[in-house]
Amino acid sequence: METILFLAFTEADGTLAKAALETLAAAKQLSAALPGSTLVAGLIGADVQPAANAIAAAGATRILGVSGAEFSQSRYATDAAAAEAVAKSAAATIVLAPAGSRANRSLPGVAQRLGGRIDTHVTALAAADGKPAVTRWYYRQRMEGTLTRTARPWIALLESGCAPAYAGAAGQATVQGVLVALPTIRTEVAGFRAPPADQQTIRPDAKLLFVAGAGWTKKQPDGQPHAAEAEQLILDFLHKTQASLGSTKSLVDLSGEGQDVLKFMTHLNQVGQTGATPRHPKGLATCCHGEEPHTVGWRFIGERRAINLNAACSWAQGKADVLYVADAFEVMRKVNALLG
Ligand SMILES: Cc1cc2nc3c(=O)[nH]c(=O)nc-3n(C[C@H](O)[C@H](O)[C@H](O)COP(=O)(O)OP(=O)(O)OC[C@H]3O[C@@H](n4cnc5c(N)ncnc54)[C@H](O)[C@@H]3O)c2cc1C
Repeated sequence: METILFLAFTEADGTLAKAALETLAAAKQLSAALPGSTLVAGLIGADVQPAANAIAAAGATRILGVSGAEFSQSRYATDAAAAEAVAKSAAATIVLAPAGSRANRSLPGVAQRLGGRIDTHVTALAAADGKPAVTRWYYRQRMEGTLTRTARPWIALLESGCAPAYAGAAGQATVQGVLVALPTIRTEVAGFRAPPADQQTIRPDAKLLFVAGAGWTKKQPDGQPHAAEAEQLILDFLHKTQASLGSTKSLVDLSGEGQDVLKFMTHLNQVGQTGATPRHPKGLATCCHGEEPHTVGWRFIGERRAINLNAACSWAQGKADVLYVADAFEVMRKVNALLG
């Protein structure tokens, strides 16, 4: 009989992020598919009561909590100690956590401490022949594998966007506190340095991924590059639609070559074989050729459209649902005007 622990770090206000609610929904589903299994919730943070209340009706037999100022910050020593204590208190055989930065960093160490195993970047959970199984991608998202393990406890970190978020009614939950022997604390988070909100162009929850390719900075039919106008058109579109911004490798590499660049673009925006493989319902690629490595980055995009001057570009070879053979400057000028 499996004891499934849904484990999550709470947000600063004590609530659960969407990715955590997605993992909870997946944990509930897995528990339902494994007869005789038990679902336990474990919450870690400064204050876990709001999160516990939000999942009061989720069907967990117990809600365990580690709370206090020491657990508000992302810090390996305290996060690992708390997760280890919760997993032991739950007597968990399966631990499911959202693949956020805190879990990604601390839970591999927890698996080691518990003598268990861990799988990261999991994209689906299921029961196969009465046993839990996880699905993940390998070799830069080119191959998908489903695996089971006999080792316990087995920790799986679920990627965001792979399950619908839990949306049950809130209630008044009783949290069973778990005592944690505090480790020596040598690290304090002094603060955050983040780009201003209007420069934050990577939005994992956006409905649309807008990808800009190197064509935006190349010479245009008048023989001149127009990088400044490209910047303004792209930023205007992102501002109006709140789309997420992706880039090709060629475009983000240009800065190192001293060419005209889009200043808000960094390597974090890059999608593809050597970049990210984001998940958005729709994607629009502009001024990019659509090479195979880039197509890998589009694997999880639902509906794909592209704008390219070249009717024979790779997007025309079955990689886009719709290819607009057009000048992206003209199209985006018109689109922005229509968006108002
Ligand atoms: C091992 C390896 C890994 C790689 N990994 C990645 C990766 O992870 N991600 C990635 O992106 N690339 C990757 N690449 C590079 C990839 O092969 C391509 O070289 C790159 O994606 C091309 O970028 P691009 O389409 O922006 O530029 P280009 O190939 O220069 O294409 C520019 C396009 O813009 C179009 N264009 C120009 N002006 C306009 C206009 N006004 N309107 C409309 N269209 C216009 C042109 O017709 C052209 O098709 C990798 C390569 C290798 C070898």
